[in-house]
Amino acid sequence: MAATVGRFAPTPSGRMHLGNLFSALLAWLSVRAEDGELLLRIEDLDTLRCSEENADILREDLRWLGLDWDREMPPQHSRSGYYESVLERLRERGTVFPCWCTRGDLKNAPNAPHASDGHPIYPGACRRLSAAERAAKSAERPPITRLAVPDETISFVDGNYGPYSENLSRECGDFILRRADGVFAYQLAVVADDIAGGVNQVVRGRDLLSSTPRQLYLYRLLDAPPPRYFHVPLLTAPDGRRLSKRDEDLDMGILREKYSPQELLGALGHAAGLLERSESVTARELTGLFDPAKIGREDVAIQLEARG
Ligand code: GLU
Repeated sequence: MAATVGRFAPTPSGRMHLGNLFSALLAWLSVRAEDGELLLRIEDLDTLRCSEENADILREDLRWLGLDWDREMPPQHSRSGYYESVLERLRERGTVFPCWCTRGDLKNAPNAPHASDGHPIYPGACRRLSAAERAAKSAERPPITRLAVPDETISFVDGNYGPYSENLSRECGDFILRRADGVFAYQLAVVADDIAGGVNQVVRGRDLLSSTPRQLYLYRLLDAPPPRYFHVPLLTAPDGRRLSKRDEDLDMGILREKYSPQELLGALGHAAGLLERSESVTARELTGLFDPAKIGREDVAIQLEARG
C-alpha cells in the first residue's frame, strides 16, 4: 500500500467552480508529488441537493484537467448501513442522545453563545431528558441525533495554518451526527469514510479548519489514527468575493468554453504560488514544481485573462 493516501471529496450539488478545483488540484499534487494513492469519494449525503448526473460531470471535469485518481470509494448516499454501524460504536464510546430542539428553539435560547461559524451553541436541553420524556417526544416526531462533547480543548497542528485549538463545549457544542430525516451528518460520514479508505492525508479548503477538532474527537472515540491535515486558502473572485456554486461565470461549464485545461491549471498554479505568472502548464508539470510551503495562508483572488 502507498505510504500517503489522500482523497478528493467533492459534493455534486452543482457544477464545480474554480475554488473547488483549487482544493482538488492541491490535494492531487500533495499525493502525486509523493507517489501516494488518491481516492475519489462523491459526498452526496444530501440527496435533495446532489445528483448522479452532477457526479458524472464532476468526474469528467476532473479528467479534463488531468486530475486522475487511483480508486473511487462508493458514494456516500449508498453507505448508510456503514454509517449506522459507526454511530453504534459512538453510542458505546461516547454520549449520543436524541434531540428535538428546532432551529428556532436554539436561536431563541436566552443568552445562547455562538460558535465562530455563527451557529448557536447547543444549550443542552435534550441532554437531560428522562426516558419517559424521550418516549413521549419520539411519538411526536423523529429526533436529531447529537454527540455530547466534553469541556476539553482539542489541539492539532495544521500543515499550513499551524497550531489550531478549539474547546469543544465552549466553542462548538454538542454536534449533530444524524439529522431528523435520517441523513447522516457530514462530520460523521467524512470521518467514517476516511477511516474506511485508509486516508492519512487530508488536503482541503480552510473553511473546514474549524470542523477538524470535532473530527479529531470522533477519531478518538472510534480508536482510529487521524490523518495529517493541510488546509488551503480559498479562492475568491477577482473582486474579492468568495466563490460559490452560484457564481456561474467561474463554473466549469463556462470556463471550459473559454480556456484550455493548461490555461486553467496555470491560473490555479499561479494562485498556489507555484508559478510566477499564469502560464499554460499541465498537471504533471505542476507536480515537479509543487512546494506546499509556497501555498500561503491568505485567500487568493483568481486572475484569469478576460475573454469573450
Ligand atoms: N465534501 C466537502 C466539500 O465539497 C469536502 C469535505 C472534506 O474535504 O472533508 O466541501
